Amino acid sequence: MAHIKLVTEVPGPVSRAMAARHERFVPRGLSLGFPAFIREAEGAMLTDVDGNRFIDLAGGVGVLNVGHSDAAVIEAAREQLGRFVHTDYTVAPYGIYAEVAERLVSLVPGAEKAAFFNAGAEAVENAIKMARAYTGRKAVISFEGGFHGRTWMALSLTSKTEPYKKGFLPLASEVYRIPYASPYRPPVVPREGQSFGEACAELLDKAFAQYVAAGDVAALILEPILGEGGFVVPPEDYLPALKARCEEHGIVFIADEVQTGFGRTGKMFAVEHSGVEPDLVTMAKSIAAGMPLSAVVGRAEVMDAPDPGALGGTYPGNPVALASAAAVLDRFEDGELLRRSREIGDRIKERFTALAERVDLIGDVRGLGAMIAVEFVGDRETKEPAKAEASKVIELAAGRGVLVLSAGVYGNCIRFLSPLVVTDEQLDEALDVLEGCVLEVADGRSTPRTADATALANPT
Ligand SMILES: *Cc1c(COP(=O)(O)O)cnc(C)c1O
Repeated sequence: MAHIKLVTEVPGPVSRAMAARHERFVPRGLSLGFPAFIREAEGAMLTDVDGNRFIDLAGGVGVLNVGHSDAAVIEAAREQLGRFVHTDYTVAPYGIYAEVAERLVSLVPGAEKAAFFNAGAEAVENAIKMARAYTGRKAVISFEGGFHGRTWMALSLTSKTEPYKKGFLPLASEVYRIPYASPYRPPVVPREGQSFGEACAELLDKAFAQYVAAGDVAALILEPILGEGGFVVPPEDYLPALKARCEEHGIVFIADEVQTGFGRTGKMFAVEHSGVEPDLVTMAKSIAAGMPLSAVVGRAEVMDAPDPGALGGTYPGNPVALASAAAVLDRFEDGELLRRSREIGDRIKERFTALAERVDLIGDVRGLGAMIAVEFVGDRETKEPAKAEASKVIELAAGRGVLVLSAGVYGNCIRFLSPLVVTDEQLDEALDVLEGCVLEVADGRSTPRTADATALANPT
């Protein structure tokens, strides 16, 4: 049975009216990537205000790993909503805060304490504060292709200029950026007998020699798999090699798991694939199935460095969001969603690897668990990014009932962040649509647009 149902053109008349109001009253900095306005969502399905049904492979940017409108999550939030919504935890505390803290600590390798905030960016800001307080040092190392959010420190750590940084200078000082170990676009060639991961980790040594002394560095922050940067999976020995250097120099190792966390890569957290125990882990997105919540989880020594009263906010760990988070953790308990994450990833990978045999436009298919991206290139030799083509595929797919997102420093990747509760039939239907869109865009590129070609294509 078809899950996609299009009863109007996309966008339909009600969506168009809403878009007109958006344009009139909302700044253009908040540009909309999808033409339809949503009325309801369930599992991996979205229904718009005109009654069209879409398959959601974006999950609100990786926020809905347990699916839209999960009954247990909604019930937990509703129950808390009925009792109280807000006190400010540090003003009048409640039990669920430390309860969820305890549960997260038990899930993160090496962790002992947890603190809650609202957005991923705020978790990143606080992790840097903790690292600075702990080390008494100032500098931070981040990575090319990294994304850590849009607030000032987080934005300083983020590596993409457009649209994130352009026009917003000056940013925080003492941030130093090194290349990430990208197998598809390698920043270095290993010496004979050296692994690629080790060669990339040496770029950190180079930074210590040329940009900033290791003894001045408070923290190194990296995504175990680049999210916004295009789902780049580094070689297995990369994280351990970086961690060893951090230990040697007394640098706080922060894993930003905002996008990779909560089952996205087939394990609860992506660092589990590497065996590395980070000093701090930042998390948000799928932590509470859409309620605004983020966390810093890690070693007590580092997290306790800021003095009493030095951390907080008006909304640090909202009780309704924490109730949702507890229900989300329940959903992961039996391991079924993690298993499903790997299955979804295999299915997407298989489909696009096969498609890549037929279509030159696909340069790379990569990822871990359900965190899969497809990179489009104009030429497989030069790997020239094909951003326009990736955008066209996304636009066509939206009109045919599938929501997917772009990614990558060059915006030339399509990334899959579907809810892990997507069914095989829904996924296959969405992949059929996407395959059709890719073939159409690839065809459009290879067909010479001349009068002759038109005549050949339309014999009369
Ligand atoms: C989305 C994201 C952030 C920022 O989270 P917000 O909730 O948007 O502030 C930080 N780090 C990573 C890896 C992300 O994917």
